[in-house]
Amino acid sequence: MSNYKAPVTDLRFALHDVLKAESLFAAMGLEDASADVIDAVLEEAARFSTAVLAPLNAVGDQTGCKLDKATGDVTTAPGFKEAYAQFVEGGWTGLTASPEFGGQGMPGTLGMALSEMVSSANLAWSLFPMLSHGAVEALKHYGEDWQKEAFLKPLVAGNWTGTMCLTEPHAGTDLGLLKTRAEPNADGSYSITGTKIFITAGEHDLSDNIVHLVLAKLPDAPAGPKGISLFVTPKFKVARDGSQGERNALRCGALEHKMGIHGSSTCVMNFDGAEGYLVGQPHKGLQAMFVMMNSARLGVGVQGLAQSERAYQGALAYARDRLQSRSPKGPALPDKPADPIIVHPDVRRMLLTTKALTEGGRLLAAHAYTQLDAAHYASDEKVRADAETLVSFLTPIVKACLTEWSIEATYNGQQCFGGHGYIAEHGMEQFARDARITTLYEGTTGIQALDLIGRKTAASQGAGLKLFLAEVEQFIAANANNPAVAEFLPVLGAKSEEWGKLTVNVLQRAAANPEELGAASWDYLFYSGYVALAYWWARAVAATQTSSHTDSFKQAKLETARFYYARVLPRTLTHAASMESGADPLMAMDSLRFGD
Ligand SMILES: Cc1cc2nc3c(=O)[nH]c(=O)nc-3n(C[C@H](O)[C@H](O)[C@H](O)COP(=O)(O)OP(=O)(O)OC[C@H]3O[C@@H](n4cnc5c(N)ncnc54)[C@H](O)[C@@H]3O)c2cc1C
Repeated sequence: MSNYKAPVTDLRFALHDVLKAESLFAAMGLEDASADVIDAVLEEAARFSTAVLAPLNAVGDQTGCKLDKATGDVTTAPGFKEAYAQFVEGGWTGLTASPEFGGQGMPGTLGMALSEMVSSANLAWSLFPMLSHGAVEALKHYGEDWQKEAFLKPLVAGNWTGTMCLTEPHAGTDLGLLKTRAEPNADGSYSITGTKIFITAGEHDLSDNIVHLVLAKLPDAPAGPKGISLFVTPKFKVARDGSQGERNALRCGALEHKMGIHGSSTCVMNFDGAEGYLVGQPHKGLQAMFVMMNSARLGVGVQGLAQSERAYQGALAYARDRLQSRSPKGPALPDKPADPIIVHPDVRRMLLTTKALTEGGRLLAAHAYTQLDAAHYASDEKVRADAETLVSFLTPIVKACLTEWSIEATYNGQQCFGGHGYIAEHGMEQFARDARITTLYEGTTGIQALDLIGRKTAASQGAGLKLFLAEVEQFIAANANNPAVAEFLPVLGAKSEEWGKLTVNVLQRAAANPEELGAASWDYLFYSGYVALAYWWARAVAATQTSSHTDSFKQAKLETARFYYARVLPRTLTHAASMESGADPLMAMDSLRFGD
């Protein structure tokens, strides 16, 4: 079983050297997030993740959760409850929440670092506290005053946890199809009736109450997505004064049997006239849902990053240790029977691809989180608005690319182990199984790709892309005479220009044929992700010039950047050509002919 070592050195490099997080936070009025505080949080989160959560990862995988069919109660794997109690005791659930509701008001960027380490150590466990963030955001933005008073403090403190109850058997991506009903009661509450499936942390034994945010339709709801409303529906009823009452009419009907994240309870939830309260306006639940989803989508991108990091660590240790065959240049360790497999070019390809995607992905995600922080905290209205535009543009890229790259990273990790990667003993197959869900929930990769090219680009005339490219241009101009990055800038400049041109081409084709957006979307998403990473790798190399990290660390950044530009960035050529081929090759075949 591979041990987890939290990547504190690289996180410090990302936050301090590349992003200059302390000054960014100070400019937003978050002076409490000083360099010392950032380091203390990283160290303590690393300790908790490695010492408490990582040892439970295999336990959760092997034991899973247990449902008592008679009561509907769910018991989590041994150690999960105690670990959650320690997490709550340490104040981690409120790290980034508003002090108004008992949180510590730390920047979301620091929360991202915590999430990465927790998810690397134990992805299944990390889902129990994670879902509460979306519930807090939805209630904070759309809840009535009494709902904020009653629900937010216990959620932030971690005594209660949250869920997102959206999916139904016949309504996944297309939530307009959902059938759960909400009937108004005389006392202002609603009776919620329906079945939700795949509900993460829908039932468990970690917290005193579970706050379900449920999408349902009112009796007069118009058809489709415009008829959806959001309801807060707790496991134990909550009165307007915040007191917890009797069991509500809802329960877990079954636990899903699934490929990975066995330690996470994925529940079928039955609502049988459960007491719920409307959150926000009737029929406007979709807006509130997007508040929950946006927060969760960046978080899922970080889960992908976390699995990539974990797979890389396991593969690297093995590649240094496993002796097979000789280096093509002759024995590297003549006194041993064979050389470690890290000498072989193909093993190095797998390791370096993973390293480049993971460390670059960490910067990409951290940048998105700094924009999220700026959108919340910056005092200047224009800075806030631009940050909002940029983070919403970056969200589908972070969500989809980091999770798809985690599939590649965990595949590479297994492959470095050869047959031993397929055997449970080393833990590599668990990372591959666990990572797989990240490309599916919170909107599949296909849906993120459509979001990026549709809502986030076409619908806003490329506002987010323009902001990102302006930042790249600024970096190129500022480093025009910097020899450290001279080898990267011409390529970065050319790719950025091409990104703009490809966007215009797709949007022009889409004006004549609406299928063009969907046809280009997947390639457009990855093209965007790879060019964004080229920017972050150039910035990483530039940042090594003023960093106090070791020479070896800095040299590794330079060599990984060179590998990225030479061996990974060329994937954009395929994506560009594929996108430019237009919709015809995809759409020409009649649906009936697919079986011929
Ligand atoms: C372990 C697990 C945990 C989950 N946790 C939760 C949770 O806590 N709460 C919750 O509400 N849900 C949860 N889900 C549900 C998850 O979010 C959905 O499974 C996901 O959104 C996809 O919906 P679907 O499975 O119905 O697929 P479908 O919507 O049926 O999609 C099937 C395929 O069609 C594609 N597709 C659909 N529409 C389009 C389109 N317009 N354009 C292009 N392609 C399209 C999709 O990309 C996908 O490839 C969870 C699922 C799992 C497996």
